[in-house]
Parts: sequence; structure tokens; C-alpha cells
Amino acid sequence: MEQSKRCSTCGHDLPVTAFYRDRRNRDGRYSECKACIRERRKRDRPRARAAERRYTARNLDKRRAASRDCMRRKRAKETDK
Ligand SMILES: [Zn+2]
Repeated sequence: MEQSKRCSTCGHDLPVTAFYRDRRNRDGRYSECKACIRERRKRDRPRARAAERRYTARNLDKRRAASRDCMRRKRAKETDK
């Protein structure tokens, strides 16, 4: 028997095959059906891309700061000797 799952966006009970796989999710599927994800992607594309850019920029800063800290600690250790 095919399992079904309710889409959190459209509220329809659909076969699990109508959901994309997502290993991070407990049941291994997205909570949103493929059709809804497609729709949302189409609608949100410009905004999502801007958000992604912001996210990447923020993380780049964080990563740079982290490696700076690491270098500083390493240098401090070396001069301690
Ligand atoms: Zn849906």
C-alpha cells in the first residue's frame, strides 16, 4: 500500500511520491508537496535569490573572522614559546 502524507501548504493528502525526498526530515520527505514547492519557487525566485546572497555574504564574513581568530591564536601560541 502506498503511504500518504498531508502537504503543509495546500493541505491535500497525497502519496509520498508527490513529495521530494529530504534526508533531514524525520520521515525522509519534505512537508510540502512537489507542486507547492514548484509554485513557491516560481513565486519567490527573486526574493529567495536576494536572501541567498545576503546569507552567503554574512557567512563569508563569519568565516573570515573565524580564520582570523584562528591565525591570531596560533601566532599567540608561537610567540609564547
Ligand atoms: Zn501541496
